[in-house]
Amino acid sequence: MIKYNLKCENNHEFESWFSDSNEFDKLNKKKLLECIYCSSNKIKKSIMAPMVSGRQPKQENVSSLLDKKLSNEKKQLLKIREYIEKNFEFVGDKLSQKVREVYYDKRTKKSIYGTATPEEREELAEEGIDLLSVPWVDKDN
Ligand SMILES: [Zn+2]
Repeated sequence: MIKYNLKCENNHEFESWFSDSNEFDKLNKKKLLECIYCSSNKIKKSIMAPMVSGRQPKQENVSSLLDKKLSNEKKQLLKIREYIEKNFEFVGDKLSQKVREVYYDKRTKKSIYGTATPEEREELAEEGIDLLSVPWVDKDN
């Protein structure tokens, strides 16, 4: 199972679970997905929890991994997850606070990951801090 944050044409965000990324594409193509707020069926994949941040080559690595692997199977997404767990520090829902610490402290080269609400993400974007969102797959099923 994989959780996607979805966004409709009116910028409503909501979460939904899919068996894999192909299922999302299939359902979306058939217009079987709709916004839980306005019933629009123009749905895009949006942010996926959690998000990672840091100033580094590492983030670019993750970005390029995601570009290549996003449409692929769980196995590859698990690799990304393992990579992040190994190289990034988990900060839970303190992400927006910790991201600012890292961002404004020029000496820190820490890479962190955690979760943020859409509101927090927007605030950070206004400050020029971009978060990278990562599809998070379960290890166990
Ligand atoms: Zn909507």
